[in-house]
Formats: sequence, C-alpha cells, structure tokens
Amino acid sequence: MTKIGFDAPTLIRTKRDGGRLTDAAIDWIVDAYTGGRVADEQMSALLMAIVLRGMDRGEISRWTEAMLASGEQLDFTDLCRAGTPLPTVDKHSTGGVGDKITLPLVGVIAACGGAMPQASGRGLGHTGGTLDKLESIPGFTAELTNNQVRQQLHDVGAAIFAAGRLAPADRKLYALRDVTGTVESLPLIASSIMSKKLAEGAGALVLDVKVGSGAFLKTEAQARELAQTMVDLGAAHQVPTRALLTDMSCPLGATAGNALEVAESLDVLAGGGPADVVELTLRLAAEMLDVAGIDGRDPAQTLRDGTAMDAFRALVAAQGGDMSAPLPIGSHFETVTAGRGGTMGLIDAMAVGLAVWRLGAGRARPGEQVQSGAGIRIHRRPGEPVAAGETLFTLHTDTPHRIAAAMAELDGAFSVDDTAPVRQPLIIDRYTE
Ligand code: URA
Repeated sequence: MTKIGFDAPTLIRTKRDGGRLTDAAIDWIVDAYTGGRVADEQMSALLMAIVLRGMDRGEISRWTEAMLASGEQLDFTDLCRAGTPLPTVDKHSTGGVGDKITLPLVGVIAACGGAMPQASGRGLGHTGGTLDKLESIPGFTAELTNNQVRQQLHDVGAAIFAAGRLAPADRKLYALRDVTGTVESLPLIASSIMSKKLAEGAGALVLDVKVGSGAFLKTEAQARELAQTMVDLGAAHQVPTRALLTDMSCPLGATAGNALEVAESLDVLAGGGPADVVELTLRLAAEMLDVAGIDGRDPAQTLRDGTAMDAFRALVAAQGGDMSAPLPIGSHFETVTAGRGGTMGLIDAMAVGLAVWRLGAGRARPGEQVQSGAGIRIHRRPGEPVAAGETLFTLHTDTPHRIAAAMAELDGAFSVDDTAPVRQPLIIDRYTE
C-alpha cells in the first residue's frame, strides 16, 4: 500500500472513537511525526486517544517496530575481551520514585564480567530519569558516539548514554508525553521501552516492572500485562527477556531527586545503603547474569570488595564526570517533623514523586532544565521508630518559592502509627519467556 492518503486528523478520530490503527497507518504516523511532518499538537491528541482507548497486541507490536525502525540499531554480537566473547545484558525500569537502581547495577554487572549497554531517558512525569541523575555529577556526558559505547563496553564493561540516534521517534514522543499527561498507557510504555532496548543491541534484557502508587500503571493486573507484553516483544526479536514485578507503593531507598540519588547509589556501591536498594540491585543483577549466561562472580561480593564501585567510577570517568567534585544539593531546605512518636507508616510514592517534581527535579515544559540539587531525603522509613518532633523528611531546592507546593503534596502522604505497617514484598513476581 502506498503511504499517500494518510492524515493525522483521520488517525486521531479513528483512535478517539475506539478503532484500530492499521500497520500502514502506524508506520506512516510514527515516521511523519519523527520527520516533523505531523505537528506536536496532533501527536498529543493521538497519544491522549491511545491513553484512553488503548491498543491491541498487534498495534503495540507494530508501533514498537515503527519506533525501532526510526533510527539506528547497535550490534554487539562480535564484542570480545582478550579474545573471549563479551556478553551484553541490560535492564530497564518502567519508572518509579527513588529508583536509582541502574547506578549501582552497572557497577555490579561490569564487575561480574558482563557488559551493560544502557540507552537511558530523562525524567518522565513524577519519576526521575537516569540521565538527569548522572548529569548531576559535574562534567558527566551521556552523548556518546557508537564507537565510544563499544569501546567503553570493552574497557569498562558499561556505558550509559542518551538514546539519541536509537529510536529517535521515542526521544520525541517521550518528551511530548512527559508534558502532556500521556505517560500512563500500557502500549506507550511498552513500545517506548522496548524500541530503545531492542535498538541498543543488548544480547539479553531484564525489565523491572513497577506496581503501586508510584508506578505509571496503578493496578497489579495492568502491571502484569505490561510485563508479559514486553517479555513477548523481546522474544519476538530473539532477545531473551525476563521481567520482575516489584513494589513501588513506597519510594525506593531514602532519597528521591537527582544528586541525592547519586549520593545514595555511592553508599550502596561502598557496601552500605538502604536494604531495599541493595536487595533489588542484587536480585536484578542475578537475573541479568543468569539470562545472559554469565557464570561470573557473586554480585554481593562486588559491593563488599569495592570492585563494583571501581567499575562505576571508571564509567563516570570515561564519560567525563568528576567524582571528586561535590554533588550539588539545593541551597534552600525545609523539614517535616513528626507530630507524635510511634512507628513510621507507609509513605506514598506518588506523593513523594510529585513533591520532588515540584521542588524542580522534573520538567513542566519540554527541554526545561532540571535542578540537580532538588529532592527529598527520607529520614524514617516504613516500620522504623519515630520520636515526637524528630525530622522525617528534608526537602531541598534552589528555588524556595517551590517549597510550599511540595509540602502540600506531602500532606497526608505518610502516617506515624502505633503499629508497624504491613508491606508488600519488594519482589512480587517474575516473568520469563
Ligand atoms: N521508561 C521509558 O523508557 N518509557 C516509558 O514510557 C516509561 C518508562
């Protein structure tokens, strides 16, 4: 079929009215939007129609293919180190609050003998993005050429880079979704993640699919469907893919915000850090090593003996970052204190994510500069004892007028009780091909 005859208003109306987009229509609109022949306002309307009406598996698969075809695809099947094949494996999260797992994980995987090519994104909605986090390290750049990625995988065992030339359709759509309330959609999340991951050329994938208030999809049933959809998309492209379903009802760790999360990741790489961040890092690492067939070192040992830290430092140095420079922390701060003593209850991940966004860690307009130093430190985690009057949260920002709105988001987002809260297990389920 020729591509003549498609137009954006017809496609928008088709989806708005609950219809199905044909393969040819999907190919056309993704290509035309990437090439600037469909306007942002038209794509925004189509995205909203997809949020409201959904897509079937065939549409999701084709949308993913079209985004994948919009740019280059990397291939590391011939990567070797000292004459031995070097297996590549990556993980991607569907987005959470305080989710800094990629940072310690790259160090662990590199130290265990794998190579992790990670095409990453920026903050999306109320969640932080790996690139925004790493760019809080002075000098760090995520703009790597394909040759630099390959060389770094060989020399260091990891590279974290802006997807850029890979799936450029996703780069445009991701930025548009971030500011148009169109993130929360299974088809759009699955295709966004899988187009980047299939383009980056990793030999195997592990997906961290979040469930709970801080996740984009709110119900466990939707998260399960997302996990299965992405595992199936990986399998359809001959990339062994697994998914873990993990709890995102409370923020991960004790920090949310770009530089604060880098500092916490360094604690984990130094053998400390919050128990949940360590647990999820090690569980994802074990899954990645297994799916990639890497029979290497014990991931926990790499955190204890400093080899994961060495690998992370080597990655940052290779990408221009200066780890000796202090991490920026917002110059203004405000605390939330306990009105009573007791036990810290559950902390609502969505409220914390929105508060961090309001402090300046995320974007309200496309391309806006984020504040590296904006964020929240959580001093008491669910189940920990609390004394009346002690500090529960510290909010940081460079722009003090933002504090009131962030405080309002935290209102009612936690409680101090007489008994310990009942929590979901951190790892809820596992999906394999
Ligand atoms: N991560 C992505 O890369 N895309 C999404 O849509 C959500 C999380």
